[in-house]
Amino acid sequence: MQQETGTGSEALEVWIDQDLCTGDGICAQYAPEVFELDIDGLAYVKGADDELLQAPGATTPVPLPLLTDVVDSARECPGECIHVRRVSDSVEVYGPDAE
Ligand code: SF4
Repeated sequence: MQQETGTGSEALEVWIDQDLCTGDGICAQYAPEVFELDIDGLAYVKGADDELLQAPGATTPVPLPLLTDVVDSARECPGECIHVRRVSDSVEVYGPDAE
C-alpha cells in the first residue's frame, strides 16, 4: 500500500500497545488501511506492503487522508492503546499520552 504522509514537520505515525489491546476491532473498522486484527486477536498497524508490523512499538505513517479515521480510532479505542505521534520529535499528539 502506498501511503502519503503529511507534509513538513507535521508528518504523523501511529503505534499500538498490544499489551492493552482488548481485540474489539474498532480501529480496524475505522481505518482498515492502517489497522488489522491478527489471528492472535490483537490489533497491529500495517506497513507499506500491508503486512502487519508485530515488533513491539512498531510504527507506521499516518496517511493524511486517513488522519480523521486514525484519530477517531485513538479516541474510541477502549484499551486506550493507540498512540499517534509526530515523526519529527516523537511527541504524542493523539492518544492516552497526548497533552
Ligand atoms: S480499538 Fe484499541 S483495543 Fe480495540 S482492537 Fe484496536 S487497538 Fe485494540
